Amino acid sequence: MKSWAMRRPTANLTIDDFMLRDMPPPEAGDGEILVETHYISLDPYLSRAMKSWKGEHPGWADGTIHGRIVGAVIESRFPGLSVGDRVIGIGRWQPVNAMPGQAVQLIAPDIDPPSLVLGALGRSGITAWVGLHLSGLKAGETILISAATGPVGSVAAQLAKARGCHVIGTAGGEAKCRHATDLLGYDACIDHGAADLEDRLKAAAGEGVDVLFENVGASSLDAALPLMRPRGRIMLCGLAQHYLTEDPMLLRNFKYLLYSELSLRAFITANYPDLFAPALEELRDGILSGRLLFEETIIDGLDNAADTFLAMLGGEGIGKRLIRL
Ligand code: NDP
Repeated sequence: MKSWAMRRPTANLTIDDFMLRDMPPPEAGDGEILVETHYISLDPYLSRAMKSWKGEHPGWADGTIHGRIVGAVIESRFPGLSVGDRVIGIGRWQPVNAMPGQAVQLIAPDIDPPSLVLGALGRSGITAWVGLHLSGLKAGETILISAATGPVGSVAAQLAKARGCHVIGTAGGEAKCRHATDLLGYDACIDHGAADLEDRLKAAAGEGVDVLFENVGASSLDAALPLMRPRGRIMLCGLAQHYLTEDPMLLRNFKYLLYSELSLRAFITANYPDLFAPALEELRDGILSGRLLFEETIIDGLDNAADTFLAMLGGEGIGKRLIRL
């Protein structure tokens, strides 16, 4: 059976660091289930584990790539789960995984498509909700979101709009920006590659930015700092620009942290489990009622996983990027 693994990667992750190799098919032990992979979640955080070979799950030590998987139970030696159940769990990037029954979560029957639990109804949506919650965002405030059309940014924008905010974003390319304003409710979105980025952001921000929801790192953070209102809040959610390389993070406008008395708060969603229930309640309600648009870019075929993962980090695709088997 084909399974994705890493060579010892260099600091700068490239396609040469990945390899597809043959593995014996897994067998379910006591308390385990066999799960047929339907979707593999391509999550930016995996790049850190890939570069260090230190994931939060056993198996990285031999270079085997693990990530979040949605699939169906095809054999069960765990009393709580039956053949046909749809589950989300951590598995290898391969067609079938043995997983401890206790380590997976059952996907409710009304969740359609089930891949939602990897995006808007999963870690991405919850991260958007938690970031907004911790920022103390209020109606009438202006929020700037980088990686505006990604799974986190697109949900954050829609939630912020529903809270009565002025929502602006940055994204890679004019087409993504049009998508952001036409479909996701952004009041303005600026191509982060535009030569006049800072001027256009300034025009879009009007009186200034109260909350910066930062998903990318130096380039967008630096452009935003002079636009922040006094005592504005920066929510440091991610640093996607820095995941492929070890380039230093250079900030020309770092001084605005002092001049405008800005506060910068980093957050890791996993550390706020108490917020998951209220987050999921609002997200689920929004999705089931059709008020919250969720978007997926689905690429078919296990063979395409590594290329698509790197392309996602480089900005290809909109919404949640998934591999479908
Ligand atoms: P995204 O889909 O937003 O993927 C990353 C995006 O970052 C790319 O698609 C690209 O979008 C943008 N990007 C990459 N390189 C650059 C660059 N050099 N300059 C400008 N933009 C760049 O991912 P997610 O929505 O899944 O995640 C968003 C962020 O949230 C990530 O940093 C992720 O690590 C973080 N995260 C944090 C969590 C937490 O607990 N704090 C939990 C989950 C996610 P574009 O086309 O717009 O350039």
